[in-house]
Amino acid sequence: MDDLYCARCGKQIIDGWVSKSGYCHPCASEIRAQREIEANQKEAHKKQMLKKYWWVILLVGITLLNSFIALTMPRTPDTLLDANGKLTTEGEIWFSIIAENAVKDGLKAPKTAEFDHGDDHYYVYSKVDTYGYSGTVTAENSFGVPLTGEYYVIFRCWGLEPDQYEIISVEIAD
Ligand SMILES: [Zn+2]
Repeated sequence: MDDLYCARCGKQIIDGWVSKSGYCHPCASEIRAQREIEANQKEAHKKQMLKKYWWVILLVGITLLNSFIALTMPRTPDTLLDANGKLTTEGEIWFSIIAENAVKDGLKAPKTAEFDHGDDHYYVYSKVDTYGYSGTVTAENSFGVPLTGEYYVIFRCWGLEPDQYEIISVEIAD
């Protein structure tokens, strides 16, 4: 039998044992120990990163959860309001369409109606799901004379589907 030599340290193998890679016993143990240390270091590094960036993971988790909820939950009119309770741009469009359609229904010449789109048309009622929207409208009367008046529309709105609102009252003051 030929003499065997370790592929790592080059020493002669005396106990007849060689690793798969051709290393002697001491070399194989040394490499194993080294790998264990490296694995421990990697694990420690992972833990350290987790400690440092747990909030990123949390943030991503919350964001994903929020988008999931947003996708699965039916939207309510509350989402048309911002943090200060003011109408968002989408809310402004939504509420003005509801209010202006209601106003047109009460006009003699709805096709001549022109609405102003200034600020602060909107007000909230204490009643659940009830909103108010006001503004100025100019439209011709039955004699073809254009008149300008303030309108006040109160409506209940409980969802963001076209049929999820009902008009409670419409007032047009000359
Ligand atoms: Zn060796």
